[in-house]
Amino acid sequence: MIARLRPEIIQSFHRKEFSTPVIGVTGGKGGVGKTTIAVNIAASLADMGLRVALVDADVDAPNAAILLSLPQQQPLDVTITMPLFDDEKCNGCGECIKACRLNSLFLPKGKTVLLLGDCNGCEACFLVCPTEAISRGQKIVGQTYKTVNKNLTVYTGELQPGLLESALVVNELKKRVFDEADQFDIILVDTSPGTHCNVINALKGADQVIAVTEPTPLGDHDLDLILSLLDQFEVKRSILINRADLPGGKGLIEKTAEKHKTVVAAEVGMDAQLLQSNVAGIPVVRMFPQSQPAKTLNSLARNIAEVRP
Ligand code: SF4
Ligand code: SF4
Repeated sequence: MIARLRPEIIQSFHRKEFSTPVIGVTGGKGGVGKTTIAVNIAASLADMGLRVALVDADVDAPNAAILLSLPQQQPLDVTITMPLFDDEKCNGCGECIKACRLNSLFLPKGKTVLLLGDCNGCEACFLVCPTEAISRGQKIVGQTYKTVNKNLTVYTGELQPGLLESALVVNELKKRVFDEADQFDIILVDTSPGTHCNVINALKGADQVIAVTEPTPLGDHDLDLILSLLDQFEVKRSILINRADLPGGKGLIEKTAEKHKTVVAAEVGMDAQLLQSNVAGIPVVRMFPQSQPAKTLNSLARNIAEVRP
């Protein structure tokens, strides 16, 4: 049985300092088409005249801007503090090496301390140094971007390849958007797949969440995980079944939906025009507005616009 979260953790998850509604688009499984769905809902809402922020919080593999054929603009660096060692002041005590939980520091005989591994900027080494031999340097770990395209503004984040600090980039990205929240009528946050910290951080402040899945045993398994997470944080949610006409797995999804008392709000079938629009980098709601996916996603977007809190 999953332990209940403490009320203050749930409250902190739901806290936001502005009234603009935030809709999360997530899904336990990768490759189910979350970003396609998020991009199309965002485009549809923007085409209704709403001022929309679309946040691509999958900073390890951001692709919302690609699906909209938009460049990434207005870059801001995401930095962490990293230690710089002063060999005049260092007495070789080794306290910083013991304090570093990543085992990233090394003291060659008769030399100054070297940073040889990953550094997450925790600053533990600064705190324990008895001689103030460590000063603050900066390391760039990624960037956030903001691209304005009429009344759709796309925020993306990118982690530098080979680094581990994706949580920092997600947090900076969310901060950038939330600081500007009053400029928008609605904010859509597309998360990375999974149920890990980055997904939780990306969904923080969401008024409701759309869990995207596909009707396969794997899709069902991962839907169960993401709905369990949303249960824990007491998040209002619905399910969108993508590739709904794949044979065999819809019964599984319906059972899981029932288990988590969650409605299936929409089903999008496999559709050649949807694929074509992805390849063209134009949302299907704009390229093929008469197609089944476009009609379904426009209708979902209208519902979201109507029930905005
Ligand atoms: S800041 Fe933290 S992770 Fe980086 S070297 Fe110091 S103790 Fe290690
Ligand atoms: S804690 Fe300070 S003084 Fe000790 S080895 Fe590290 S840098 Fe040098």
